[in-house]
Amino acid sequence: MALLGQFIDGEHVAGGGAPLDVVNPADGSVVATLTEATPEDVDRAVAAAARALPAWAGATPGERAAALFALAERMEARAEEYAQVETAQAGKPIKLTREFDVPGSIDNVRFFAGAARVLTGMAQAEYDGTHTSSIRREPVGVVGSIAPWNYPLQMAMWKILPAVAAGNTIVLKPAELTPLTSLMVAEDAAAAGIPAGVINVLTGPGRVVGEALVSHPDVAMVSFTGSTPVGRRVMELATGTVKRVHLELGGKAPFVVFDDADLEAAANGAVAGALINTGQDCTAATRAYVQRPHLEAFVEQVAALMDTVRLGDPTDPTTDQGPLISLRQRDTVHGYVQRAAAAGAKVVRGGEVPAGPLAAGSYYPPTLVVGASQDAEIVQQELFGPVLVVLPFDTDGEGIALANDTPYGLAASAWTTNTFRAQRAAREIAAGCVWINDHIPIVSEMPHGGFKASGFGKDMSVYSFEEYTNIKHVSSDITGEVRKDWHRTIFGDR
Ligand code: NAD
Repeated sequence: MALLGQFIDGEHVAGGGAPLDVVNPADGSVVATLTEATPEDVDRAVAAAARALPAWAGATPGERAAALFALAERMEARAEEYAQVETAQAGKPIKLTREFDVPGSIDNVRFFAGAARVLTGMAQAEYDGTHTSSIRREPVGVVGSIAPWNYPLQMAMWKILPAVAAGNTIVLKPAELTPLTSLMVAEDAAAAGIPAGVINVLTGPGRVVGEALVSHPDVAMVSFTGSTPVGRRVMELATGTVKRVHLELGGKAPFVVFDDADLEAAANGAVAGALINTGQDCTAATRAYVQRPHLEAFVEQVAALMDTVRLGDPTDPTTDQGPLISLRQRDTVHGYVQRAAAAGAKVVRGGEVPAGPLAAGSYYPPTLVVGASQDAEIVQQELFGPVLVVLPFDTDGEGIALANDTPYGLAASAWTTNTFRAQRAAREIAAGCVWINDHIPIVSEMPHGGFKASGFGKDMSVYSFEEYTNIKHVSSDITGEVRKDWHRTIFGDR
């Protein structure tokens, strides 16, 4: 089936808006031309989701699980196609999409297929002796979800799966730069037997389609993953209709290396953790704080490893790092590095836009910066590029304080062979995830979500059901008395 831009009520349809080219960031070629949605398309998609809601919410957990397992089968059968399309639209190295994005997404589907059957509330009990209390966990309704371009397929899965596993229906707006794999998932879900209207996908600009979705009166909840400024706008718009809001926002992950750390492991972890997905990862290692005795050797080892990273054509299985998502993003990243250098920081590796054959794409080399100050923008703000800044610290307390010293709190790592230090870092670093002696790995069973300006709420794991369900208390009188004892507080005496 040809992708047209919108998937509404079980079908691919064209939007009523302008044509939209999906561009390959590796060379600027057009991968697909779609049409954008309009606010009227948002109305149609929300109406389809609302119509599908009663039957899907009423399906048994077993029925929902079976449909999700069937979706996993279909995705697995098309795994290579998913990997190729994801690489073409996002510029990700094919080894990353084949080994991480696609299998990780399929694993998410199977996790939520299983989790759909074990949604629990509190046990029934008579807490006051006269009523049986029980907890019902009910779907929230039509969920409006908005996703970013950095992991298009995974972000679509993180939004769709807990929502539909819990019996909600969804209208998802992927980033307009990378809508293709989300549209493929909607198509595969329909083919797998998930009823029309349960999963709808809209393509179009955030200001038009995103805002219409977030403001829509029939959307009960908004789940947003993207930048902190847009998250603020989403939250503002959601107040009009008092929607539930789930926000997964930016990050600026610290990477704290204590002086007893295995230095080689830390250097390997820093390069992989900083450069994954060309640094366009909300949990990427961006600020390495290294206890002073290790500083020089750490910088040397990281620089040497960065020299081995192969920048190039993302479809080549030997490519380690592809382009950034767009020329605009490349210029943004380069601007940060140039301003840091102008302010006195030293660029140890990278920091220059490649010339030659890579100039046609939005490539930026692995970049290592030292000597920036803690309050510099390159240390405080999210760049979303392959740039690692290294700074020193002396005492353990100082290392942890510096790690906490940005508005963000999504992820962090601590590198040490001392269990007391590891436990202290895990406890004191304010972030939704603290890795010890690693940085990046995620699993379907464990939650992902931020503290502070990184947002609130969780993706993945059973914790995500807290976002996508309403808790209802049901209290049943078990006395059968016409006049209850408590009535005397209103009339009569004991
Ligand atoms: P972005 O905020 O620019 O856009 C995200 C989405 O919001 C896109 O679909 C966009 O079209 C839409 N949008 C833009 N303006 C809107 C508006 N006014 N109303 C409604 N929707 C609007 O982010 P991006 O550049 O696509 O992605 C990168 C950002 O995403 C980074 O900040 C990164 O940290 C964040 N991110 C966070 C997580 C996480 O789990 N916390 C995961 C991945 C990415």
